[in-house]
Amino acid sequence: MNTQDSVDKRPEHIQALLDEETGPRFMGLPERWIDHPTWRCANGHVSTWNVRRDCGDAVCPACMRPVWLTAPEDEEREV
Ligand SMILES: [Zn+2]
Repeated sequence: MNTQDSVDKRPEHIQALLDEETGPRFMGLPERWIDHPTWRCANGHVSTWNVRRDCGDAVCPACMRPVWLTAPEDEEREV
């Protein structure tokens, strides 16, 4: 079993938002997500900035869990 996959796997609802995007993409991500960066962590916090740890991982400023880029209109809520 490869545990790295479960750590890096994008949460389902972000993947669903990604699947709905039809616009131009850069590096597999919608350009409008990159133009207005919004970050969501596994605990449901959403913010427009993140903390960059010494090891290079981006983490949530509220709970220090890993974050993923999400849609600009994504809102903070439990998922
Ligand atoms: Zn968080």
